[in-house]
Amino acid sequence: MATSREWAEFDVIVIGGSYAGLSAAMQLARARRRVLVVDAGRRRNRFAHHSHGFLTQDGSEAAAIAAQGKAQLQAYPTVAWANETVVSAAADGDQFRVGFPDGGTAVGRRLVLATGVNDTLPPVEGLGERWGRSVFHCPYCHGYELDEGDIGVLATGELSMHHALMLPDWGRVTLFLNGAFVPDAAQAAALAARGVTVEAAPVARIEGEAELVLADGRRLPMAGLFVVPRTSLPSTGGGATLADQLGCALEAGPMGDFVRTDAQQATSVPGVFCCGDMARAAGNVAFAVAGGAMAGVAAHRSLIAELQQPI
Ligand SMILES: Cc1cc2nc3c(=O)[nH]c(=O)nc-3n(C[C@H](O)[C@H](O)[C@H](O)COP(=O)(O)OP(=O)(O)OC[C@H]3O[C@@H](n4cnc5c(N)ncnc54)[C@H](O)[C@@H]3O)c2cc1C
Repeated sequence: MATSREWAEFDVIVIGGSYAGLSAAMQLARARRRVLVVDAGRRRNRFAHHSHGFLTQDGSEAAAIAAQGKAQLQAYPTVAWANETVVSAAADGDQFRVGFPDGGTAVGRRLVLATGVNDTLPPVEGLGERWGRSVFHCPYCHGYELDEGDIGVLATGELSMHHALMLPDWGRVTLFLNGAFVPDAAQAAALAARGVTVEAAPVARIEGEAELVLADGRRLPMAGLFVVPRTSLPSTGGGATLADQLGCALEAGPMGDFVRTDAQQATSVPGVFCCGDMARAAGNVAFAVAGGAMAGVAAHRSLIAELQQPI
């Protein structure tokens, strides 16, 4: 965008132009509403080449799905796009004003937040650079391609029981406790019933494709490794998230906080809708697209509802 100050007022500003934001904006564009999509270009799955499990796009490049969605959206004449980061958002009378790093602003009557989440992995050497390639968090997304081979679960806490008990449907599972927790008797029995091997020796590092090197020197090559990350809402540079700046209520999820929404994807702040990973305890592309469609429709209906007529 040339300078954000030149931009007119929009019906809706969608912050985040990946799967959820694109889907929200598509509904609004098809209602001929003026939409501004602002996107910082850092999709959560940018570390993975391929995306699985989304109907008609199973195995497609993750980037290609987003690029095709963006191209189809931008064909609508009422859509404006900014490759920018929104650094501030606040109510401004009965509208909302969002701010950009250059000091420019844009105004919209409604906001859709679709900024996704950030992942934080445990500090194990070699883990981060394999994220999305041979280290994953979602069995439905990447479990099938491991061809029923040896699968490691690197524990980050008791939540890793979930991975360890699910993943035997995808291969032979070893749970690496790595000091994160010690299974109690009931958990140990459940792991045994699912045929899970439990390894207590600390993990020193990951090498090769997904080879775990243990502190005692043993090497255990795996077809893939699963880990539960901590998730957080993206900060805007100054520390506060957009949800915090706007005063949106949050919920505590098992992996991190997410924005509380109702069945219409409305947040606790009137006029602000939220969708995708930032509005769910756990997400994927299909859920992001579905939530985005609901947020777009609901934002549109809320504009019409200003007429005070039931629709
Ligand atoms: C390694 C990995 C592999 C995955 N594989 C799969 C898979 O195979 N299948 C599947 O269904 N799911 C997969 N997922 C999950 C999937 O990536 C997410 O569920 C999906 O990306 C959520 O979409 P979203 O639109 O909510 O958020 P995102 O895709 O994360 O997009 C959020 C967008 O908002 C932008 N943004 C953030 N803050 C701002 C701001 N302040 N201003 C402007 N823009 C901003 C970001 O830059 C980004 O472009 C995977 C996830 C990971 C981590």
